[in-house]
Amino acid sequence: MAPSNDVDGFQQALRRSQHIIVIAGAGLSAASGIPTFRGAGGMWRSLDATNLATPEAFKENPSLVWQFYHHRRVKAFEAQPNPAHLLLARLSIPSFLRKVAPAAKTFNLITQNVDRLSIRAVETIATEQAFQPNLKKIDRIKTNNIIEMHGRLFDVKCTSCDHSYEDLSNPLCPALGAADEQFANYHDAGSKDIDISETELPRCPKCGALARPGVVWFGEKPLMLDEINQLVFKADMCLVIGTSSTVHPAAGYAYRVKRRGGTVAVFNLEPSEGDEKADFVFRGPCEVELPRALGISSDETAEDRQNSGNVEIVQ
Ligand code: NAD
Repeated sequence: MAPSNDVDGFQQALRRSQHIIVIAGAGLSAASGIPTFRGAGGMWRSLDATNLATPEAFKENPSLVWQFYHHRRVKAFEAQPNPAHLLLARLSIPSFLRKVAPAAKTFNLITQNVDRLSIRAVETIATEQAFQPNLKKIDRIKTNNIIEMHGRLFDVKCTSCDHSYEDLSNPLCPALGAADEQFANYHDAGSKDIDISETELPRCPKCGALARPGVVWFGEKPLMLDEINQLVFKADMCLVIGTSSTVHPAAGYAYRVKRRGGTVAVFNLEPSEGDEKADFVFRGPCEVELPRALGISSDETAEDRQNSGNVEIVQ
C-alpha cells in the first residue's frame, strides 16, 4: 500500500504507540542554517563534504580536514535550535508526550547529527521553564534519551592515546582561525589550499600527539550501537526525520521497526530511500510538517505551561 499523508491516521497511530523512536538526520538542522551533505549545501570550498568526512582524507591531509571541521564548528556555534528541534525536546517532557501519545512509555531520539542542537533544544526549554512563575509540579526533561550516534563536532579525540574531550574554544587553535581569515581574503578562493603544519593543528593535552575531530567518519563504527539496537527492537513507532536514509546502519532502523509490526512515518523535503515502505510520508520542511502532523506547536500554550510544571534536566 502506498504511504499515506493523512494527519488523523498518523495521530491515531501515535496515540496507540508505547515505544517511540526518532531517527534524525541533517535535514532536522537545515532550518538552523547547517547545510546537509546532499545537494549544493554539501560543497565546501568547491570540495565534496562527504569526501572530507573520512579517516583516509584526514590521514592524507589533516590540515584540510581540520579546516573543514573548524568551518562546521563555527556554523554549529552560530546556529540555534529550530522549531523541529524544540518540538522533539518538548516530547522529552512526560506530560507533554502524553498529550500526543498517551500510551507512550518511552521516547528516544537517535540522531546522526553532530551539531549538538538537539541537546541545546532541551537546554533551551529547561531554561525557559525555569523562569515560568506559579509552577509547582516537577517534571523531568531528559537528555539521556538523546543518542548522538555520530559523535559531536565539539569533541576532540587523540589519534594516539584515544583521549577524548569536549572543547568549546573557538578557534580550537590560532592556526585554524588564521587560515579561515586568510582564505576569506582570497579572490579566487576555490583554487587555493592553505597548508597548516601538523605541529600547529590541535594536539592532545595528555600525550601531545595530533588530535582529530571527535566525530564518527564514513567507514567508522557509530557510537552506542548496542543501546540503539535495544531501542529499535522495542519500538512500535519510528519517526524518520530529515535523513536521506543512505548512511548505514541508521538507514536500516525504520524498516526493522516495520518488519516487527511497528509504524514508520517519514518527514522529508524530498523523496528518500525506502519511502515506499513507510506507513506515512509527510513531504515538506520538518520544522513545519512535524508540528502540523503532531497537531501541536513548538511553542507552549498558556495551558501547557500550567500543566507541565517545573522542568528539571535529568542526564
Ligand atoms: P543527508 O545530507 O544525506 O540528507 C539530508 C536529508 O534531509 C535529505 O534527504 C533532504 O531531502 C532532507 N532535508 C533537507 N532539508 C530538510 C528539511 N528542512 N526538512 C526535512 N528534510 C530535509 O543527511 P543524513 O541522512 O543525515 O546523512 C549524512 C551524514 O552526514 C550523517 O552521517 C550526518 O552525521 C552527517 N551530517 C550531519 C550534519 C549535522 O550535524 N547537522 C550536517 C551534515 C551532515
